[in-house]
Amino acid sequence: MMTLRRRFTLFTIFWLIFILILFNIFVYFFVIKITTRSEQTVLTNKVNLILDNKRMETPGNLDDPDLLTEFYNVNEMIRIITPSGQIINQIGSDEELLALPTDYRLTHNKGVNSYAGKRVLYLKEPIYDEMKVVAMLEIVRKLNVLDSYLQILVGALAVTSMGAVLFAIFGTFWFTSRLTAPIQHMVQTMREIDRSGKLRQIDLGGREESAELQQLVRAFNQMIDRLDRTFEKQKRFVADASHELKTPLTVISSYANMLKRWGRDDEKVRDEAVLAISNEAVRLQNLTKSMLMLAEAEQEDWLKLERFDIVKMIDEMARMMHTTFHRTIRVHSEPVGMMMYADKDKIRQLMVILLDNAIKYSKESIDIHISSTKNAIRIDVEDKGIGIPEQEIPHLFERFYRVDGARARSTGGVGLGLSIAKRIVELHDGSIDVFSKPNQGTAIALQFPKKNH
Ligand code: ATP
Ligand code: MG
Repeated sequence: MMTLRRRFTLFTIFWLIFILILFNIFVYFFVIKITTRSEQTVLTNKVNLILDNKRMETPGNLDDPDLLTEFYNVNEMIRIITPSGQIINQIGSDEELLALPTDYRLTHNKGVNSYAGKRVLYLKEPIYDEMKVVAMLEIVRKLNVLDSYLQILVGALAVTSMGAVLFAIFGTFWFTSRLTAPIQHMVQTMREIDRSGKLRQIDLGGREESAELQQLVRAFNQMIDRLDRTFEKQKRFVADASHELKTPLTVISSYANMLKRWGRDDEKVRDEAVLAISNEAVRLQNLTKSMLMLAEAEQEDWLKLERFDIVKMIDEMARMMHTTFHRTIRVHSEPVGMMMYADKDKIRQLMVILLDNAIKYSKESIDIHISSTKNAIRIDVEDKGIGIPEQEIPHLFERFYRVDGARARSTGGVGLGLSIAKRIVELHDGSIDVFSKPNQGTAIALQFPKKNH
């Protein structure tokens, strides 16, 4: 396959050669035309001078040898020819010109002829005597001086054209090598990434390159950066997840050992071990469930959109939670019914996550406010619980993040709830904000844009 550089060079050279050929042809013919025309003017002037001569008016003088001598010129031949084709007067020294055949013409006639490869300019003019043509004046001029100049011109044009082509070859080669060097550099970096499996950005070393290449490099580096962060996130997730799995498994295995050794005899040990094992098993169950949920939520095109009454749904949920946890959950809404276009199961899941936190981290009643503005539906979940220190709020949505490890462990939390919640909100193009004061309470504000479908 042809490289960009070779293609570019070839194109430039051929294009240049084409232009040069056209240009040279134009110059050559233009010069011929201009110079021939000026020579012709010289001849015309001479003919006029000869014809103006007083002695020409007497017909008997046409064969006077002195008539033409003053007009003698090395490269010319002048002669007078009678209608019968007889040369009656002639000057000139050039053998070739003198040997030209006579060709009698009644009318004015001029042009360029070529004899044996040499260009010859001629002019024929009738000589009148009382309105009657009595003879013809013929003047012929060799263009050999002009032609030697033309040869020099052709040589000069050839040399300069060749020089231009050579310069163009070196120029485009140099230019394209500068142009393609960063591309080659990029290809090399990509190959290295492919070989070593280690992500690396392209460094152009601050050299000034064209805007397009800079864009390309920047886009590539951004992509690498993104991949890098994704890999990093994934690695951290695996590390965190295995760490989370390790703790309950350690607890289970150590209690199982205890049961093996003393469980047969000591009833107290047996009860404690069974309780711990069953607690940790539940914790493992929750953990794997949350992790599955998160993995599922990470996938795009995951929404099953439908229209439903959000107030009705939250109302039912509050009643159910009240019976299960014996906690007061008040739902305030304006207006009473509100339609929402979203994935119903995911919104329910989101509300469960938020209510679960509110129940876990507070002891008093919980308030849910649902309101609707022109463009959005807003849901606030408020509790009067332990709250969250301000510096912890930015980290809440990180996976496995718990405000106080020990405290959270006693409540059995995994630390995935809010990261799942955030993902669900993002999938719905909504926003989630946390307002909290330690020992006063927490409010989570959800906002979803209204969509009409
Ligand atoms: P789970 O995955 O089981 O929900 P979790 O509740 O610990 O575990 P998140 O729901 O993600 O995890 O919450 C992260 C942390 O934020 C919690 O550990 C808790 O410390 C804090 N938090 C969340 N909601 C509240 C709240 N309403 N009041 C006080 N602290 C809260
Ligand atoms: Mg939670």
